[in-house]
Amino acid sequence: HNHIDHATPELVNKAIAAGDTHAHIPDYETLSAYEAEGGYGELKSLRANGDWEAVQANLKEAGLRGLGGAGFPSGMKWGFVRANVGTRYLAVNGDEGEPGTFKDRYYLERTPHLMLEGMLIAAWAVEAERCFIYMRDEYPAVLEILRREIKALEDAGMVEAGYIELRRGAGAYICGEESAMIESIEGKRGEPRHRPPFVAQVGIFNKPTLVHNVETLLWVARICREGAQVLNSVEKNGRKGLRSYSVSGRVKNPGVHLLPAGSTITDIIEACGGMLDGHAFKAYQPGGPSSGLLPAHINDVPLDFDTLQPLGTFIGSAAVVVLSDKDSAKEAALNMLRFFEDESCGQCTPCRVGCEKAVKLMQADKWDQGLLEELATAMGDASICGLGQAAPNPIRLTMKHFADEI
Ligand code: SF4
Repeated sequence: HNHIDHATPELVNKAIAAGDTHAHIPDYETLSAYEAEGGYGELKSLRANGDWEAVQANLKEAGLRGLGGAGFPSGMKWGFVRANVGTRYLAVNGDEGEPGTFKDRYYLERTPHLMLEGMLIAAWAVEAERCFIYMRDEYPAVLEILRREIKALEDAGMVEAGYIELRRGAGAYICGEESAMIESIEGKRGEPRHRPPFVAQVGIFNKPTLVHNVETLLWVARICREGAQVLNSVEKNGRKGLRSYSVSGRVKNPGVHLLPAGSTITDIIEACGGMLDGHAFKAYQPGGPSSGLLPAHINDVPLDFDTLQPLGTFIGSAAVVVLSDKDSAKEAALNMLRFFEDESCGQCTPCRVGCEKAVKLMQADKWDQGLLEELATAMGDASICGLGQAAPNPIRLTMKHFADEI
């Protein structure tokens, strides 16, 4: 694929001064460029005489798991959705609200058709009557690119007008939770639903709905074209596959780094050109604020699905934030809980009140650890969705690994 530089504010200002009003839209691979390198060939042949179960088996062989955070085996969902008769829908979760995650934006601003082809393959596999793309409104360039390219697909006769519906999110973190996203698509307030029933059975407007993350769909297209080995031939530290780590913090080259799924934090910092000068590695967030903070000495664990569970955390969407000796773990943990307090949808008490109380307790010079642990247990046990259930992670991990600060 073409290599495209990001539009920096300086470049944008220069371009605007030169009369280019679309300077905020980065160069990206258009439909004709994508088709010229074989794009949509797989979709066309599958639509002509494909076997959805063969594609599903291919995804399984590749080991593709949902890359929005939950890591559910992608192909399995297809079977769940197909098991229901009648109208089915597909929804693309492009909300990408997990702080520190920007991989979906990175890919959509460069190769939007990889995701669109993956989406249309998945839609073909489950015979979806319509596709909804729920896109974060904070990504105006991505929205504009998708508007243009969906229109190009319609003009090329690849999809009927209106088959793909682009929906803008409205800035609520909770709408990245799939059932809240579905509520939002239906025009309601974004609040997570109780499960069961699962969205594969009762989704958008009560129809069975296949929900995939943006990056997951990009891999569906690549697996169809390049075979399962595009993922399963990569092996490191006993783990197979690739992960798009969104890395930020005190490293020399932050950004999206596509690395083996068995990469440790040491490998990731190395891929980022090392720590910034004058900064010593102290701690890291392995996968968004819900994953809390791990200390620098835990540096030999592959940052992958399942591997972090024994440490009381998880990889989520692989939003890695690197902290240095200039940062306070206590302040970082407080910042995470402040975020959850702001973003709690307020539907259930353990999360709504729990996040607020946790912030108050964490503002103290010395943490009341007994009370915080009790609160963490109540939140984890009794919250409806992942936000409230995982919000205690930063509290517990900070008490465990950064006891000298609290
Ligand atoms: Fe809403 Fe929090 Fe309850 Fe989730 S856990 S439903 S975000 S109040």
